[in-house]
Amino acid sequence: MKILVTNDDGILSPGITSLARCLSVLGHVTVVAPDRERSAVGHSLTLHSPLRAEEIRPGFIAVDGTPTDCVHLGIHGLLDTRPDLVVSGINKGGNMGDDITYSGTVAAAMEATLMGVPAFAVSLVGDSFREEDFAGAADFATRLAAVIAKNKLPPDTFFNVNVPACVPRGVCITRQGKRTYEDVLIEKRDPRGRKYYWIGGGELGFQDIEGTDFNAVHSGAISITPLHLDLTNYRSFEALSVWGLETIQTKTFEEGAD
Ligand code: MN
Repeated sequence: MKILVTNDDGILSPGITSLARCLSVLGHVTVVAPDRERSAVGHSLTLHSPLRAEEIRPGFIAVDGTPTDCVHLGIHGLLDTRPDLVVSGINKGGNMGDDITYSGTVAAAMEATLMGVPAFAVSLVGDSFREEDFAGAADFATRLAAVIAKNKLPPDTFFNVNVPACVPRGVCITRQGKRTYEDVLIEKRDPRGRKYYWIGGGELGFQDIEGTDFNAVHSGAISITPLHLDLTNYRSFEALSVWGLETIQTKTFEEGAD
């Protein structure tokens, strides 16, 4: 089994070392990860500057790009054969609910899915990130990788895994939860009197919804959310059917387009 490991915390993050070490019992592991922290870059792809890849130690390749770039380079250029699995993590902090849309960790698994390679993202939820917490999450990721290899993921599906930083109370298959966003912008002044802003910093909450990733992890369980890339809101079709969107008059070519 050939496994490509990446993350968004950077190649020097303890989470990726722990993950790569543990997964190597299943086969050949190559790490292709950003050369620095790229958390919250989402699914961004570098199109307007060159990318450099440097093997900083055997099997560990640092790229000066995003997690998505790393998966792209790994699958299409850096590995001599296509990987059987891409694992992204272990992220320092949870990736649940609406946060998924910002996450570079989750986006790396998304990219692999787009390339037709089975993938999952794994994040450690907690405040302190001790060696043994990463080791526990890495052990679970390895067991899960073996299960995925045996069962084959459903089409266009990848897993978003969140592991609580404690002895987990079971495993739950969950759906994506909802964040509550408040006090997420801090305004300050620099020594020259100019305003500057910090996004985040406040304590973020979540809505208490049964069956969600947040609720599972909050109750001490490992959360596995099967995700797909189709963002279409099918439930809105009925409500929109009465809007008459198809009847909005559009300019013809004769009138000239704006
Ligand atoms: Mn991160």
